[in-house]
Amino acid sequence: MPPFDGFQDFVRVDVPLAPQVWFRVGGPARFFARPRSLDELLALLDRARQESLAFKILGGGSNVLVRDEGVDALVIQLESPFFSDVSIDDNVIKVGTAVPLTALISQTARAGLAGLEILTGIPGTVGGALRGNAGSRQGSIGQYVRRATVLDASNEVHVRERDDITFADRSSNLDEPVLLSAEFELTHEDPESVVRRMRRIWIIKKENQPYGHQSSGCIFKNPAPDVSAGALVDQAGLKGTRCGGAEVSDRHGNFIVAHPGAKAADVLRLIDQIQQRVWQQFGYELELQIQVW
Ligand SMILES: Cc1cc2nc3c(=O)[nH]c(=O)nc-3n(C[C@H](O)[C@H](O)[C@H](O)COP(=O)(O)OP(=O)(O)OC[C@H]3O[C@@H](n4cnc5c(N)ncnc54)[C@H](O)[C@@H]3O)c2cc1C
Repeated sequence: MPPFDGFQDFVRVDVPLAPQVWFRVGGPARFFARPRSLDELLALLDRARQESLAFKILGGGSNVLVRDEGVDALVIQLESPFFSDVSIDDNVIKVGTAVPLTALISQTARAGLAGLEILTGIPGTVGGALRGNAGSRQGSIGQYVRRATVLDASNEVHVRERDDITFADRSSNLDEPVLLSAEFELTHEDPESVVRRMRRIWIIKKENQPYGHQSSGCIFKNPAPDVSAGALVDQAGLKGTRCGGAEVSDRHGNFIVAHPGAKAADVLRLIDQIQQRVWQQFGYELELQIQVW
């Protein structure tokens, strides 16, 4: 019997993932599902576990590189509107993790709530941002989190309070299989000034990052708090280096852009080349920031 017998209306087989990720490269998911409610999600995960099938949650695909051979697993993308609920109560906003970060920032700015505008220009969903504590020099999402609702490995829903959540440099201990929603505590401020800050941040981002290209944000973690991976790549003279259709961005050394026709293997070879060169030249081992599936 096929593993997802009875789930045909929302589980599909051999679904290309390249259109779902910012790199626009990589092969298909063996199974792909967009559950429309918590019940559908729970039933799906139960079945995957019964069938001993691995699963992965895809947010906006802005931090994932999918290998050319694809993903031998069930890839789940939480579907709007069920996982995209937004409600505001005074200075607290509660959001589903499928909400795009840009939509959340616009909504809070319009409501005169300040804080999250420091994340302007970061693509993806609230779920992906929480998992990786998305941010920039101005700060990161974790500092505004009040609590998060998660689904654990036994399919139980839990609320994780702020005291029990740790956020670090592009990481968090929100490591349950599925993040469902989160509450953010913000500060009241005149909407005009929040929007002005958003615009300023967006202008700087556009100048420094290759937005018009297929890419996936920073490829490597900074090897130390005061050592930038991008600066090491730059100092190693690697900007503009190509492997097949993949190229180190000439705008930001920690970005790789995939030109049309590029393969995930090109990106992976280029990553390898950068890691070797930076190790030989500076003695730093660059660790991946992106997720390779
Ligand atoms: C042009 C560009 C600029 C960028 N600039 C920045 C930047 O300035 N700062 C920064 O921090 N990042 C930046 N990024 C990286 C990326 O946007 C962030 O990491 C983003 O938060 C990822 O969110 P996502 O929804 O796309 O996650 P995905 O890429 O879909 O997934 C990332 C990880 O999160 C997990 N995940 C996603 N949703 C859930 C969920 N609901 N439950 C459980 N796990 C989940 C996935 O399984 C995966 O492990 C940039 C990316 C691009 C393409």
